[in-house]
Amino acid sequence: MRSKLPGDQASIFAEMTALAVKHDALNLSQGFPGFSPDPVLIDLVNQAMLDGHNQYAPPAGNLRLREKISELVANLRGKIYDPEHEINITVGASEALYVAITAFVHPGDEVILLKPAFDSYEPTVKLQGATPVTVQLEAPYLKIDWNAVANAITSKTRMIIINNPHNPSGMVFKDSDLKQLEELVRNTDILLLSDEVYEHMVFDGRIHQSAASFPGIAERALITASFGKTFHTTGWKMGYCLAPKELMREFRKVHQNLVFSVHHPTQIALAEYLEEPRHYSGLSDFYQQKRDTFLNALTQSRFTYIPAEGAYFQIMDYSAITDEPAVDFARRLTREHKLASIPVSVFNVDQRDDHLLRFCFAKAEKDLLEAAEILNSI
Ligand code: PMP
Ligand code: GLN
Repeated sequence: MRSKLPGDQASIFAEMTALAVKHDALNLSQGFPGFSPDPVLIDLVNQAMLDGHNQYAPPAGNLRLREKISELVANLRGKIYDPEHEINITVGASEALYVAITAFVHPGDEVILLKPAFDSYEPTVKLQGATPVTVQLEAPYLKIDWNAVANAITSKTRMIIINNPHNPSGMVFKDSDLKQLEELVRNTDILLLSDEVYEHMVFDGRIHQSAASFPGIAERALITASFGKTFHTTGWKMGYCLAPKELMREFRKVHQNLVFSVHHPTQIALAEYLEEPRHYSGLSDFYQQKRDTFLNALTQSRFTYIPAEGAYFQIMDYSAITDEPAVDFARRLTREHKLASIPVSVFNVDQRDDHLLRFCFAKAEKDLLEAAEILNSI
């Protein structure tokens, strides 16, 4: 059998969560909330099922939900996406990413990625017979070297993928980052894939700079978003994609053949739930508090860190403790200290090891305090 992804391993998220379960460890590895979603939202989904919304939704998604998304984006980003032609509901941001890459990237094309990078981008590029071109950021990955990105561009560059706020580093792009990117792609036919699943989680007064807000980027961008992240429902796999009409036309050809349409009752519920902006507008404060609860409890730890700027991940440097590779140390922490994390090296070029672990702080306060106590003791 000829593998299409020779050398690719099983997902680190699945591995570390399974290891956490096996060793009965606190699981701050895979990024998912350790608390329940709003019961109001759960009731809305139940009600939608009772009301009979149990058959296929339109392939683009329930129209009212697309209208609500359009309003949200217009209010927050200052750009109007036409619900009819420029918004598509997807099976999580994961499907949106897969479809966006598949619809536009051809064999022989090059796609630029900033590393460390979320694990699905690179294999999806390879599955198209295209080449991922990686630009490694310097630890702790809070600054982008746009000259290095410029140097990676060739006549074969079809797409640049960005992720803002950034997983795993927690970096939030600055206005100047987007402006430099806008300059880079001016007068080219390079497309942008902007993965913005943590858009509502930015801290210390920062503002999320969406690709939608920069005209020279938005005209060529596919933007991915996740209701799983925003509404603490990662298991529902609900997301969406925004793109200009001519790009969305191609996106829909792939989406239609991949899944046709997405879980219908949840779409009805989300449309209703989005009527109330406070359901997402308080998220930055909510997660900043969790970050601070976790970090303030690290009173005597030898782990060092710069507080995350956004998303729900905190990177920690353990080089004062051991020089073990991050993968080994993360496994040992899980086995011996009952605390699971993600070794950041797996997201880097050639698994470059900067001795960093990623901890997800989307957890109940008691778990964050317990995790901090464990880290203090190491
Ligand atoms: N992009 C990033 C950066 C993520 O962290 C995640 C979380 N899994 C996704 C995309 C996928 O989102 P979803 O769970 O909505 O498919
Ligand atoms: N996005 C989540 C993380 O970074 C997990 C996604 C997954 O399990 N595929 O941890």
